[in-house]
Amino acid sequence: PPVLEARALRVRYGGFTALDGVDLGLVAGRVTAVVGPNGAGKSTLFHCLAGTLRPARGSVRLAGRDITRLPAHARTRLGIARTFQQLAVFPTLTVAENVRVGAEQGRPGDPRAVERTLRLLGLDGPVRARPAAGLPTGTLRRVELARALATGPRVLLLDEPAAGLDTAEVAALARILKALAADGTALLVVEHDPNLVAGLADVVHVMAAGRIVASGPPGRVLGSL
Ligand code: ADP
Ligand code: ADP
Repeated sequence: PPVLEARALRVRYGGFTALDGVDLGLVAGRVTAVVGPNGAGKSTLFHCLAGTLRPARGSVRLAGRDITRLPAHARTRLGIARTFQQLAVFPTLTVAENVRVGAEQGRPGDPRAVERTLRLLGLDGPVRARPAAGLPTGTLRRVELARALATGPRVLLLDEPAAGLDTAEVAALARILKALAADGTALLVVEHDPNLVAGLADVVHVMAAGRIVASGPPGRVLGSL
């Protein structure tokens, strides 16, 4: 059964229907991707799953519990982590300090979460002591991901994680995300870059005009676009 499950989501902005009856389940150990043209409703769906936008109708449940009425810190403690499309690292904190913020906000338990996460993302060298301000985009994306990971999430929601990365960085990111999924995390990727989606996702959902119009393995779904 899904760890995070959205049912019959409906979102309206004024008279405009941005989500029109969307169902989506995120399963432990699986990478789910959501693709579709600009305006399809991907960001709106992402914000509903992250709990930052309350749908007019429908529910988002984590292990059976509706998360749309919980404050952000409670969602993080329950095991939902997200990254931001516009990076949200703290510029004056060092790389390691940014990751520690994530560990402190997260599920209690693992005192080694910071070190383990820095190592996993290759941030355990000299860069760990550098302030985030001024680091290249590829490094900042890793810091952002590390901060989310250090919370110990059961569900990891990634908003355009390949944005601004070169081909080698996208490949490295895909390897890390696959390892996380293999470890039992449920991953969602909202992504424009078909290369990342094709090499990474187990299931792809295609959105158009506020609905999911196709779902399946990437080879089948992306091939027909
Ligand atoms: P996507 O992420 O797929 O580009 P969005 O979820 O951002 O799609 O937007 C879906 C539709 O809702 C678009 O037509 C967009 O213009 C509209 N929309 C998004 N946010 C708002 C808002 N705050 N107010 C009004 N319309 C919005
Ligand atoms: P988008 O995907 O539409 O570009 P983001 O996902 O970056 O937007 O951000 C969504 C919303 O969350 C925005 O209103 C933004 O101001 C807010 N936000 C961004 N970073 C943070 C943060 N670290 N903590 C809380 N809210 C944030």
